[in-house]
Amino acid sequence: MMSINKGKEIAQGSSIPATVAGSTTAGVGVGAGVVVVRDQRNPPPLSRYESQKRRDWNTFGQYLRNQRPPVALPQCKANHVLEFLRYLDQFGKTKVHLQGCVFFGQPEPPGPCTCPLRQAWGSLDALIGRLRAAYEENGGLPETNPFASGAIRIYLREVRDSQSKARGIPYKKKKKKRNPFKANEVSSSFQIQQP
Ligand SMILES: [Zn+2]
Repeated sequence: MMSINKGKEIAQGSSIPATVAGSTTAGVGVGAGVVVVRDQRNPPPLSRYESQKRRDWNTFGQYLRNQRPPVALPQCKANHVLEFLRYLDQFGKTKVHLQGCVFFGQPEPPGPCTCPLRQAWGSLDALIGRLRAAYEENGGLPETNPFASGAIRIYLREVRDSQSKARGIPYKKKKKKRNPFKANEVSSSFQIQQP
């Protein structure tokens, strides 16, 4: 049983749930106008990307612990990641038309339909990028990083292609530079990826 009790937090960044069960990742915000004495317990506020990454990592950890039986991180393989991505679709907000829908391939359907909502490809792509980084920052070896596996890449490509067809939206290759600095931070932001 899941409780999504952090709607505010979720709405701000993405449709990926911030918590699977009640773990708390708060503590970033500091009251305005207060002199902040930073010590070990009070690290400087995280950037948007860093805090999103931390939330995603916590969410994924919760997901693994909630499996029956629970999956320990060293045992985590690409198939767990794929199942996690499919699991997240239930929180998706992107209408992806089925083959039989009259709006299939229409970017702006004139009416409602019963096709399912899913996670947008751009959201999943950015999420995997953050989790891939978090895995290694948390002691995982690059050689065994499940987020970097070919299976994930193939899955994401399939999602991109099928959503592109279903929604009538071409996902262009990164031709134009979206950000002047080449930090992967900016390109993985949800807002930028959403068409
Ligand atoms: Zn539809």
